[in-house]
Amino acid sequence: MGPTLGKVMQNLAALGVSPDQIDSVALTHMHADHAGGMLDGSGAAIFPKADVFLAVEEDRHWYGGEPPTDAVGVSEQVNSYSGKLRAAYAGRWHLIAEEEILPGLRRMALPGHTPGHSGYMVSSGDDQLLIWGDITHVPVVQIAHPEVGMVFDVDVEQARATRKRILDMAATDGLAIGGMHLEFPGFGHVIRNGANYEYVPDLWLPEM
Ligand SMILES: [Zn+2]
Repeated sequence: MGPTLGKVMQNLAALGVSPDQIDSVALTHMHADHAGGMLDGSGAAIFPKADVFLAVEEDRHWYGGEPPTDAVGVSEQVNSYSGKLRAAYAGRWHLIAEEEILPGLRRMALPGHTPGHSGYMVSSGDDQLLIWGDITHVPVVQIAHPEVGMVFDVDVEQARATRKRILDMAATDGLAIGGMHLEFPGFGHVIRNGANYEYVPDLWLPEM
């Protein structure tokens, strides 16, 4: 999916983590840029020991009946690997509600982008980080104008309502945010700007 993706293994190696040390994978949704890096070239599980967590609504959308279709081909892309993915992780594929799946890791339903689109609230002591998946794709536009939807949203209206609700919560609670389509470094905060919001990326201070 382009030169900046497909680097999970490389980045894990840079952290000194091997794939068999990963014991849990929590998916935000099934789109290929979020769930597509979990099989090797032969279709085997990249993470041989990991339990995989997916929202029950997301599982139902992709596996519950006729494969979904859409005008831009994203569903077709997911349909082509979703069966292989579930088979490769058979016995370790867990469907979840809004619940704490691991100590300090709770799923938050953020429906609209996909029916089971999920965020994960990571808590440690007084600190909280919301990993919000695809609440925004073009944050500089969609945080200032939360009404702006995206062609990849399965239900644009519902995604819009979810985005407004989460931006309000993030600004009110001063939450740290992590997202896959946020500007570098992918972490930041949301503040109010009049009736709307503004995104403030965290400072990036590399260790020298
Ligand atoms: Zn997506």
